[in-house]
Amino acid sequence: MLNLNYTYRIYPSIEQGEKLTEWLEICRSSYNYALRELKDWLSSRKCQIDRCSLESEYIMPADYPFPGYHQQQNNLPKAKKEYSRLATVPAQVLQTNIRRLHDAWDFFKTRGFGFPRFKKYGQLKSILFPQFRTSPLIGEQIKLPKLGLIDIKLHRPIPHGFKIKQIRIIKKAIGWLATISIQLDVDVPQPIPYGHAIGVDLGLEKYLSTSDGFIEKGCKFFSKLQSRLKVLQRRLSKKKKRHKNYEKARLKVEKMHNHIAWTRKDYQFKLAHKLCDMADTIFLEDIDFRTMAKGFLGKHTLDAAFGQFRTILKYVAWSRGKYVAEVDHRGTSQTCPNCRIEVRKELKDRWHSCYECRYEVDRDVASAQEICNRGIEMLCTQGLWGKEEIGYQVGLSGAMCLGKWRRVAMPSCEVGKPTP
Ligand SMILES: [Zn+2]
Repeated sequence: MLNLNYTYRIYPSIEQGEKLTEWLEICRSSYNYALRELKDWLSSRKCQIDRCSLESEYIMPADYPFPGYHQQQNNLPKAKKEYSRLATVPAQVLQTNIRRLHDAWDFFKTRGFGFPRFKKYGQLKSILFPQFRTSPLIGEQIKLPKLGLIDIKLHRPIPHGFKIKQIRIIKKAIGWLATISIQLDVDVPQPIPYGHAIGVDLGLEKYLSTSDGFIEKGCKFFSKLQSRLKVLQRRLSKKKKRHKNYEKARLKVEKMHNHIAWTRKDYQFKLAHKLCDMADTIFLEDIDFRTMAKGFLGKHTLDAAFGQFRTILKYVAWSRGKYVAEVDHRGTSQTCPNCRIEVRKELKDRWHSCYECRYEVDRDVASAQEICNRGIEMLCTQGLWGKEEIGYQVGLSGAMCLGKWRRVAMPSCEVGKPTP
């Protein structure tokens, strides 16, 4: 099964726009209501049955069932009779909205953090139409239940043979978007490792460096955009809440946020394609960037959005039939890629120079080469890589060499340049 998400801009009429905004509001209040039920149930079970907490006590009968997804979903028709507003929204949209809360709740239970929160005014920004019997796409328009036809800009056509499964309508500062999930009943084989392999090291000083010596500096315009955002945010903070000018300033801030996110995404897609142009097999570090973002360089890490880049790179590589794998990241920057001994480096040391084999190269390129070594080792042990290298991986860590860096092992200024 092949699933893809395509995002398009849609242009609802004024009436349709108002309706959609109202639906978002209704969904928000039903989300909050369902969350309240869940929270009440939890707080009524907080203390033991024979004692009370000192401050307050929430009492619910012991056999009162847990407000699970199915129960809350089944309550919707009853609630509709009481609140006629609910009936204006398509039933399935309301159901998936409740589903969303329970997904968040399940997620919280497995991870142990991220309890679902109440959504403030305007914080619920999307609704999902979960299924369509016939294709809702009619020419340059899209047909949604209880809304009718909406103009859509099909800047790229939906590929032949794909079926539309779901549509998510999203409200952004620039207007409305529709994310269309399409599906094709076909099995796509996973790419296999082959050809030229590279390791990629991600970092803050340089956005990325590859084992071939390619270095991407990262772009400066992010910091420029960030300072612009700061100005807008400062202006917003001086406005009175719930006034017309506050809303205008808020929209500007939101637009800026979206703009930054899109620019970054665009940059990352182009970079991913660049990497795929350079190699057929790509190795990455398996760093958990979320823990990295908690460190002292947190803000910069978040700005670089490495996790998103990894996802994008995997997607681009998959669509181009290139192989991507992650390797153990521990100590990649402290190992000589040529002779594999440990070479201690501080964060400030930007140059790798091995005292053992006199291999010299840029620090980040060195760790990228080490990542590539580890990747090939990993594939060798799995028997996925060519036979000639298998002889090397016999656990002779000191003698281990792949002949790859040996060619450039002499200390010279030629080292680190990409192979033509
Ligand atoms: Zn060395």
